[in-house]
Amino acid sequence: MTQHPDRNWRSSWTVDLKTREARHADGWIFLYECAGDAPRAWDGKCVQFPAKGNLYASQIARICREAEDIWSKAQKTPAEPVPCAVCGSYADPRDMWAGMCHECQRRLV
Ligand SMILES: [Zn+2]
Repeated sequence: MTQHPDRNWRSSWTVDLKTREARHADGWIFLYECAGDAPRAWDGKCVQFPAKGNLYASQIARICREAEDIWSKAQKTPAEPVPCAVCGSYADPRDMWAGMCHECQRRLV
């Protein structure tokens, strides 16, 4: 085996920190939501899958593992701070949702 499958599969994925999506070239989209009160604990949800049928469970399981991996990797990569739409303070886009920083989100609840 001369190929590096680990390197290849990553090129099929794109991560958007603002929309909290991990998208696969084949049509998979995973949306990551805050799990509970912790700012960076995530629950991944598959919101779109390829239209073609006959997907093997093993393929689906692999895609899910890749999504988790690519998302957690993106969490560790430095990101440009963006302004909060409510208080105007700059925060990491991963700590924001609907344009709001984590503090403003908490105040709404
Ligand atoms: Zn704010």
